[in-house]
Amino acid sequence: MERVAGAVVGSVVGDALGAPFEFGPAGAFSARFPVPGTGGEMCGGGGWDIGEATDDTQMALHVAESLVERGDLDLPDIFSRFQRWATDEPKDIGLQTDDVLTSGLPWDQAAAAHFRRSHHAAGNGSLMRATPSAVYFARDGRQATMDAARRIAALTHGDPAAWEGTAIFHDLVRVALNGADPLDDLPQTLAAIHPDHRERYSTVLDPKWHPDQATEVNGAIWPCLGSAVWALRTTRGYEDAIRAAIDLGGDTDTVAAVTGGLAGAVYGLAAIPTRWTEVLHVPLPGSGGRTLRLPELLNLADDLMGTGLRTG
Ligand SMILES: [Mg+2]
Repeated sequence: MERVAGAVVGSVVGDALGAPFEFGPAGAFSARFPVPGTGGEMCGGGGWDIGEATDDTQMALHVAESLVERGDLDLPDIFSRFQRWATDEPKDIGLQTDDVLTSGLPWDQAAAAHFRRSHHAAGNGSLMRATPSAVYFARDGRQATMDAARRIAALTHGDPAAWEGTAIFHDLVRVALNGADPLDDLPQTLAAIHPDHRERYSTVLDPKWHPDQATEVNGAIWPCLGSAVWALRTTRGYEDAIRAAIDLGGDTDTVAAVTGGLAGAVYGLAAIPTRWTEVLHVPLPGSGGRTLRLPELLNLADDLMGTGLRTG
């Protein structure tokens, strides 16, 4: 439970901490907050209040609530929650996600139609919202959690590269929740993805890879996932991992949300500073005007872990 709550809350904290630094240069976070542990890092800015999480978390929570309320993977239900969210004026929404959700096409055709048109749909938008589903499907084992990841990713992202990257993240979280080191297990995780995508993910997940070597901006899924794993690998705790992720600049809220989900699963809720969790809040468009805070997030984490009633 400690790891499950760490993953769910850790991702939201990363999103809220990174949001004010989005599109900024590398090193901006540590220039402003040079000494870890000092406080004040949850600073708001760029249109975000102090402790306010962004679209990454909003979409993740819609996935979470669908899984909990439907009791299983209900893809049309997730898609219609996304649509309600997209048309309820979220402060931010990915361009591609917006295109797909407002296209008017059915849930199982909208993303594919977008990909046929654009040939370019490997943004990090399916990865950024994957922590709750990674938690929910962890108990079902590697193959099942990776398949669930692919199917949820495919609701908005027609590019199989996005499915495979999201599937890798699901499996890394699964391994961490089991108490093992997801970095040790990387070869097995990579062996389970589609062969067409293995080389590119092997490159960005290699211990020798550094985010400076990225061949795309970190709004793309490969460097985003690679940067999160790099941040986990090169630091020794939740706070330092998040700092490293935000300091990369660029798509800081998403890279930190992904890092936070993974680092939270590894280090657990107790490793996340309470000065960050106590100001956390998620206004949730498409939910009838609700705002979720730490107690609601912990309840959701509890529900995602489940009661053993689910038969899979
Ligand atoms: Mg965002």
